[in-house]
Amino acid sequence: MKRRKFLGHCAATSLSAVFCGRSFGRESGEPPSDAEINSRNLLIADPHAHPYPLQGGRSFDSSTPTIEIMKKLNMALCSFSAVGDVAYMRRGSGAPFADTKDQLGKIRRMEEEGQVRLALKSPDLQALTASRTAPAGLMAIEGGDALEGKLQNLDVFHEYGVRLMTLMHERDNEIGFNQRSSSDGPLSPFGVQVVERMNKLGMVIDVAHARTGTLKGIAEVSAMPLVDSHTSPFLQGEEGAGSRRLRTWQEMETIAKTGGLVCTWPLAYSGKNSQRTTLKHWAEEIVLMKARLGIEHCGLGTDGGGGLPRLVEGWRSIASLPDLMAEMGKAGLTREDIAACVGGNFLRLLGKCLA
Ligand SMILES: [Zn+2]
Repeated sequence: MKRRKFLGHCAATSLSAVFCGRSFGRESGEPPSDAEINSRNLLIADPHAHPYPLQGGRSFDSSTPTIEIMKKLNMALCSFSAVGDVAYMRRGSGAPFADTKDQLGKIRRMEEEGQVRLALKSPDLQALTASRTAPAGLMAIEGGDALEGKLQNLDVFHEYGVRLMTLMHERDNEIGFNQRSSSDGPLSPFGVQVVERMNKLGMVIDVAHARTGTLKGIAEVSAMPLVDSHTSPFLQGEEGAGSRRLRTWQEMETIAKTGGLVCTWPLAYSGKNSQRTTLKHWAEEIVLMKARLGIEHCGLGTDGGGGLPRLVEGWRSIASLPDLMAEMGKAGLTREDIAACVGGNFLRLLGKCLA
């Protein structure tokens, strides 16, 4: 089969065979060449981003993905995450449900204009991510604050097209505790209901921002794999130091044991004795995660548009992904590893979680 035809065949036949690198006839274990890691050969899926015109940070930043960038990269799918606690962040109080619904309305309008096609059901995913006439969009909410403590609001959001929710964000809410909180605690009884309902409705549960006790509670209750859509491991030997948004190996193992996925992001940070400030560091971190968790539990979540205070050198936005993939190859990851990490693993999880 000619390569081009084979690529089309791969895209059309199986989401799990996401990378067509197997057709290149090289031994597994060899790093991919520049041509092979060209993003057009891959199914790229970003589980956490705030594309234009959504606004994840306090102001628009240059990491914000646009439909143009997605098309240029030939992305298969991108999260469109509304912020569920923006009412609290901006004004100190507000109406999180109505405010989140407003943000989601922008995605609905993009869909009506044909700029994006929403991923809603498992059986549609394959065709949706294969055709690439417009990127597939995953409607998401970051911050279960948007539910305002009412389970029926979850049903309303699901009905509207939301298929992923990050339960916690920047404040403790009716569900549990967030990573920057001064205290930790279990998943609340309402949180238990939310997790069970999300499993039933076919929604992806994102544990990003969840404090350890709440994360454990979610893992115990959920019958489906979990994703942490944007985080990184603490630097070796510096657990507890640096950003509070980082994960311990124990936390990441908790997520992996659900069959889930830990997605690393472009935040740059420095510890006392080591740092994570370049694409090379990011790629080496994935190699370490592969060794400790297994590559099937690794992903990338860019938090594009999320207003990260400092990005690793060489990363501007998802448009820098080919440069990261080149570093991943140099760090020793195979083409199958890279394909799994940039989208294959998340699309597999999505296929499993959506009803
Ligand atoms: Zn976030």
